[in-house]
Amino acid sequence: MKKRRCHLCGKRFKKGGLKYHLKAELISDFDGYLSLPYDEKKDYAQEIKDTVEASKGKSEKELEEEVYQKFEFLLCPDCRRRLVAFLRSGEKN
Ligand SMILES: [Zn+2]
Repeated sequence: MKKRRCHLCGKRFKKGGLKYHLKAELISDFDGYLSLPYDEKKDYAQEIKDTVEASKGKSEKELEEEVYQKFEFLLCPDCRRRLVAFLRSGEKN
């Protein structure tokens, strides 16, 4: 049987022990702002060139990860507790 460990701290799980499966997605956000209406003073061709230039040297995977990433972890109770504390510290009241 394959030994399983916590993906964060490496602690080995005991048979039948408590562990947590974490699934998370990180998705780029769009605030709805578009620089419209058309601005004749703006150089859109240059803006497109700049965007293409900024993507050069990045792999398809890197570009995709700038928009969407999926994570899956198996966590021990201690790492779960630390993760929840971290996530809750960022919650807005
Ligand atoms: Zn752990």
